[in-house]
Amino acid sequence: MPFEGKGKIWMNGRMVEWAEAKIHVMSHVVHYGSSVFEGIRCYKTNQGPAVFRLKEHTERLFNSAKIYRMEIPYTEEQINQAIIETVKANQMEECYIRPVAYRGYDHLGVDPTGTPIDVAIGVWKWGKYLQNSTACVSSWMRIAPNTMPAMAKCGANYMNSQLIKLEALSHGYGEGIALDAYGYVSEGSGENIFIVRDKALITPPYAASILPGITRNTVITIAQEMNLKVIEENIPREALYVADEVFFTGTAAEISPITHIDKVKIGCGEPGRITRQLQERFVKIVTAQDSDKLHWLTFVK
Ligand code: PMP
Repeated sequence: MPFEGKGKIWMNGRMVEWAEAKIHVMSHVVHYGSSVFEGIRCYKTNQGPAVFRLKEHTERLFNSAKIYRMEIPYTEEQINQAIIETVKANQMEECYIRPVAYRGYDHLGVDPTGTPIDVAIGVWKWGKYLQNSTACVSSWMRIAPNTMPAMAKCGANYMNSQLIKLEALSHGYGEGIALDAYGYVSEGSGENIFIVRDKALITPPYAASILPGITRNTVITIAQEMNLKVIEENIPREALYVADEVFFTGTAAEISPITHIDKVKIGCGEPGRITRQLQERFVKIVTAQDSDKLHWLTFVK
């Protein structure tokens, strides 16, 4: 869906009109993919909009920046505040939030030393991310250790994600599942993955070149509360086909069932019972229908 092109964007401490939120084409990020970013959701609740796990997202943004030796010229607290202000300024009841820190305009050349670290925060309405519950195992592998750090949510990683996504779409699937450098299941182009087998949840470990997903962590927490066993271990490709259930997790995708992989029916070919239970609990938490005992919600007042 193209942007509506309306609203306000926070840029380096100032609130600017959407149309004015521009950068120079000779900025370092345009040429070398030197950005780190976050994707956060703000949900509508009966106590007003609530940002889900704001602190954890901002912390991951700063960790991504640290990995790339980028000094964000704000504190985490200032970025949290700026995110809240941006949601407020756009009078959003619910929205997707995109903070991005990037190497700006100074000079070009691979050595980024001296480029300013600019920060922007945009918000927009983003509904259901994955409409199609089918997936394929990608012929593109996830970025290997010692090539690009998968734990950093950096712009350049999404060139790999785009190849995975475009290949899946061109073959009529909703999403691609990438294997890691050792042939084990890694993650989707923008989601972590879980399989359900004999009432236990299994998900790849950090070592499988995954982004440490905040929704992944949420699901692990909820599942443990529901007395489900959660195992983080390497998953061979064929375990996908014989799983009882498979689902993706992500801020955009939330909890999205995968009903078919490489045209093989997973379980009964419908969203599974445990996936649906996790989805129900997730929705209740993010919309404040259940108590926020873990302090995952930041209300926009
Ligand atoms: N893996 C990748 C590659 C992603 O882009 C995302 C989305 N941020 C995820 C996993 C899921 O992370 P999260 O639950 O924090 O959104």
